[in-house]
Order: sequence, then structure tokens, then C-alpha cells
Amino acid sequence: NGAVNDAKNLRVKLVLLGDSGVGKSCIVLRFVRGQFDPTSKVTIGASFLSQTIALQDSTTVKFEIWDTAGQERYAALAPLYYRGAAVAVVVYDITSPESFQKAQYWVKELQKHGSPDMVMALVGNKADLQENREVTVQDGIDYAEKNGMFFIETSAKTADNINQLFEEIAKRLPRPTP
Ligand code: GDP
Ligand code: MG
Repeated sequence: NGAVNDAKNLRVKLVLLGDSGVGKSCIVLRFVRGQFDPTSKVTIGASFLSQTIALQDSTTVKFEIWDTAGQERYAALAPLYYRGAAVAVVVYDITSPESFQKAQYWVKELQKHGSPDMVMALVGNKADLQENREVTVQDGIDYAEKNGMFFIETSAKTADNINQLFEEIAKRLPRPTP
């Protein structure tokens, strides 16, 4: 299931899903390169970026992060995209109720067609835009809880909670038994 492992070092495929414009590519760039470029069109084509993090218990997790634009435009292609993924990060924009609806569509899609042991995170991005907020924190918490997902609000712009997002995912990955 996308997790190629020994007991100490995991390698996992991670996909991002969500409406175009919610900040998926910016989250990836912030996490992998520590950058935020409001002007760049950074969605990666057929390839992926990777980033390794070390956890407290001295295990490491290498994320192979797939960030393609195709799934936004052609829902029929999505299963090809998330096949073999150990992690799905479903992103919405806290200023856009439409994007929150779309996030729920993706969660249902993953529940129907994704692998059952996939770790799923729900991410409310653009948390720096508090004055334009239209999706409450409680809305996010409630939906995530009902669906057994991890929830966090992030800002790729300020870097708020970006590393925490990936650390929390890493902690939730199923470990191979030694
Ligand atoms: P994607 O289509 O989901 O990959 O979205 P992008 O990463 O391309 O971001 C879409 C737009 O939202 C860009 O103009 C980004 O500069 C902006 N953006 C992304 N993340 C944030 C954020 O956390 N805060 C703010 N204020 N803008 C963001
Ligand atoms: Mg993108």
C-alpha cells in the first residue's frame, strides 16, 4: 500500500486532493523548500517531490508527494492518482465554502475507492486570512471527526502548522511489525 518499509524507515506515497486554488502546491513547496511564492504556478507535472522527516523515536518517514493538476479537472483520472497512496491530504480554503464542499466530495470518493488503511488528513488552508473566513474551525473539526480523519488548519503563506501537518501524518502511519 505505497509504504515500502523497514521498521525504522518508512517511504510513503502522499497525494493532495482539493479544489484548484486552495493552496495544495503552496503547501508542498512550503514543506519541501521552505518557500512561499504567491506568483508561481508550481503544480508539478508527472513527477513528485520528496521530503524526509525524522520523528522523536528516531524513525524516519520519506514522503513522496504527488501534486498534479489533472485530478482537479478530470475526476475520472483521480483513481490513477491516489492508487497506492498511503496518505491522502484533502485541502480546502477557509475563505471558500465551495472548496469545503469539494473537500467532502473527495473524502467520500476516497472512502469508496481508496485503500482502507489510508491515512487521511483534512486541511483548512489560508488560515492567515482570518478576516475573510467563511468556514469555521468547528465545521472542520466536526467533519473530520465524523470521518475518522486528522484535522488541522494551515497557512502556506506564513508557514503556520505546515510542518505539524506532516509530523502528525507521520505519527499516524501504520508501522510494520519488526
Ligand atoms: P492549488 O491549485 O491548490 O495548487 O493552489 P496553489 O498552491 O497554486 O495556490 C493558489 C493561490 O492561493 C496562489 O495565489 C497562492 O499564492 C495562494 N495561497 C496558497 N496558500 C495560501 C495561504 O496559506 N494563504 C494565502 N493568503 N494565500 C495562499
Ligand atoms: Mg497546484
